[in-house]
Amino acid sequence: MVNSLIPPRVQTQLHNRERARVREMVLAAKKEDNPSCAKRVAVVGAGVSGLAAAYKLKLQGLNVTVFEADQRVGGKLRSVSRDGLIWDEGANTMTESDAEVGFLLDNLGLRDKQQFPISQTKRYIARNGKPVLIPSNPVALIRSNFLSTQSKLQILFEPFLWRKNLSKLSDEQESVGGFFERHFGKEVVEYLIDPFVAGTSAGDPDSLSMRYSFPELWSLEKRFGSVISGAIQSKLSTKRESKGGRAGSANKKPQRGSFSFLGGMQTLTNALSNELGKKDLKLQCEVLELSCCSSNNSSLHSWSVSYASQQKKMSDENSFDAVIVTAPLHSLKDMKITKRGNPFLLDFIPEVIYLPASVIITTFKKKNVKQPLEGFGVLVPSKEQQNGLKTLGTLFSSMMFPDRAPDDTYLYTTFVGGSRNKELAKATRDELKDVVTSDLRQLLGAEGEPTFMNHFYWSAAFPLYGKNYKTAIEAIDKLEKDLPGFFYAGNHKEGLAVGRAISSGCKAADLVISYLNSSLDVKESSH
Ligand SMILES: Cc1cc2nc3c(=O)[nH]c(=O)nc-3n(C[C@H](O)[C@H](O)[C@H](O)COP(=O)(O)OP(=O)(O)OC[C@H]3O[C@@H](n4cnc5c(N)ncnc54)[C@H](O)[C@@H]3O)c2cc1C
Repeated sequence: MVNSLIPPRVQTQLHNRERARVREMVLAAKKEDNPSCAKRVAVVGAGVSGLAAAYKLKLQGLNVTVFEADQRVGGKLRSVSRDGLIWDEGANTMTESDAEVGFLLDNLGLRDKQQFPISQTKRYIARNGKPVLIPSNPVALIRSNFLSTQSKLQILFEPFLWRKNLSKLSDEQESVGGFFERHFGKEVVEYLIDPFVAGTSAGDPDSLSMRYSFPELWSLEKRFGSVISGAIQSKLSTKRESKGGRAGSANKKPQRGSFSFLGGMQTLTNALSNELGKKDLKLQCEVLELSCCSSNNSSLHSWSVSYASQQKKMSDENSFDAVIVTAPLHSLKDMKITKRGNPFLLDFIPEVIYLPASVIITTFKKKNVKQPLEGFGVLVPSKEQQNGLKTLGTLFSSMMFPDRAPDDTYLYTTFVGGSRNKELAKATRDELKDVVTSDLRQLLGAEGEPTFMNHFYWSAAFPLYGKNYKTAIEAIDKLEKDLPGFFYAGNHKEGLAVGRAISSGCKAADLVISYLNSSLDVKESSH
């Protein structure tokens, strides 16, 4: 009641001050009773996973230094605010998929900056050259005309037919396309799975590994055979478990759906980096070498870090007790690692394929868009290239978040490239403008030239979780096993989504803390 009299902005400032005070008290207490707080950890990469790891370590009272090759933080989170427009050149939205996401949002005070898209359940897929609303749940899908009767029957009878259709269960090498075709048929792959994987990973169903791209579904098949009855049974058991759990605990249910933040996705990484001191964040420092030596007066190994800064090779004056690398595997492979003075060869790290993508922002006056659609966006299946569509998909950014453009303007975010069209991703700005305006004319009736255009090219937007991705995961395991105090996190490990990258960073931080604490135990027991 009293709070409601205080303006919300002032309330937030008070909350933030209070949070900062509590955090400082916690840190001070940790420093006193936790000797591991004097330890020092290096984090390589200031994308969302590296920053999440650093934040979690700092909360535990550890000294952290983050090394970032670029001149800015955020990695694949990159928001721009210019001339009354706001757009994202990397990730546009995320979900609260993992508990660690909720932990960050609460601790960073970002709940009041979360932006949920208007009509986010309205999503479209191009079919016969036109956008068609995707039914928002399985019952609506069966009732709609989105799929042929044959495909709908195949979905309905999958719990009974899977035995007949599955001569073998999925093996480690099976593709996403192969898996879904066995369960639901070709049309589902072409018109649901293909646009979905293109929109979330720029990949294609034939190249992606089922085991590593959809691990939960892959395991469901192993447990239940039928994907549909497996999904129903595991949903029921999760409900039962959470009912039981909630009775005794204050477990909060995460909010469903995608979201961004006021100012775009980079608000999250900016908030994380604000929590690090300026001296803890070394921008434009590309790590070149990591050396691990045994230490005489500690059971821990000590790490030193060399990096390139403004074309000069430098070494950090500090030594570190542990290292978390979140740089992509191709960057890690270019580094030099030594262990007790000897080269530690990285030739076992496989060549990961990276998919390129261009992100094109366009704006149109509302009066010039003849069939605007309300909702999240439209995805383009590769089959629709035969109907003249060349983009991967477009987000209706200012429909979702009206503050992203003036009232008389629509702002669209279009993706081009991926495994379907690697060459086109690299095309010139003018070529891409033609491709995007042509697709938007066909799909939304956007007439004439865009009033504004911006182009950002990612040469290595997404690592492809290909059919041999197991070798990449095994290489990461080997690095962590053979190098004491070395941990790896980020979007090469457990998924590409922002939530997965955050979770991976936080888990690596937890592993570092147990590693440091276990070495303290060794030291104490040897006295
Ligand atoms: C165009 C695009 C759209 C996307 N859309 C979405 C979306 O809508 N929703 C979603 O959930 N996900 C999306 N993603 C995926 C998601 O953004 C990424 O998977 C995630 O942000 C990766 O975070 P990360 O910290 O693992 O890696 P990165 O963000 O790649 O961070 C790694 C950091 O390491 C630095 N680095 C590399 N080498 C070195 C070195 N030698 N020394 C020091 N620093 C180094 C890099 O400069 C970089 O800052 C999108 C990605 C792209 C490219």
